[in-house]
Amino acid sequence: MEQLTDAVWVHEIVAEGFSTVCAVALTGSRAFVVDTLAGPADVEPVAALVRERAGERRVVVVNTHHHWDHVYGNAAFPGVDLVAQRACPRLLEAQLASADESLPLPPSAGVPLPNVTFGDRLTYVDEDEAVHLIGTPGHSEDSLVVFLAGAGILFGGDTVEWPLPNFSQRGGLEPWVTNLRRLKQLPLRLVVPSHGPAMDKHIIDANERYVAGVREAVTEAKRAGAARHELDLAAARFLDAGVELDEVYAGVHRANLVWAWDEV
Ligand SMILES: [Zn+2]
Repeated sequence: MEQLTDAVWVHEIVAEGFSTVCAVALTGSRAFVVDTLAGPADVEPVAALVRERAGERRVVVVNTHHHWDHVYGNAAFPGVDLVAQRACPRLLEAQLASADESLPLPPSAGVPLPNVTFGDRLTYVDEDEAVHLIGTPGHSEDSLVVFLAGAGILFGGDTVEWPLPNFSQRGGLEPWVTNLRRLKQLPLRLVVPSHGPAMDKHIIDANERYVAGVREAVTEAKRAGAARHELDLAAARFLDAGVELDEVYAGVHRANLVWAWDEV
């Protein structure tokens, strides 16, 4: 576990080639866990920290969206509030029922579904901190971010990602860009994406440029007659100068072009 402030920790694993983090934030009366990684064993150090530090606090586990690498460890926190955006339980159930062989098998402990849901925003207020869960559809229909207003820290889920975001589900590129523009208005000291290093709010600008840029370029290419798998749009065009992609993210970019072609 890496400690970011007096009351905030993050824990990182590598899941199928992607660095993936989850977080713990303690407020006066609550212990928030943001995402549960790819299984109960992955998230055990986080559960241990909560057991050690939470004391009388109420434990609140937040799923930033339904994808396996953010929810498969839910069973490590029995009997607590599992909070997510309203669309999450349905999407998670569908994911668990699907025979998609590209997805890892769920853990034998099962994956408890969220039992507290909201639409656009849910806020928990303590004397020392206000924690806002904000719905940000884009990466997926049920994506959300967690904003600690006092600390100025944003846990971005997959709404922000470095070196580039993953379109992966048709949550909608247009609402995604709108949400990134909204997030930039928040007073942020630190942005912690689920995949990628913690950094300042520049990551939001960079992701906005990528999502809006790919959407626009693919729209133009499609209009000009380009076929679905013939899109020749180098990632560098949409990224900061000098950003190098490893094989995993080069593949994400190629898949993003196809997702975008289907949507525009
Ligand atoms: Zn993810």
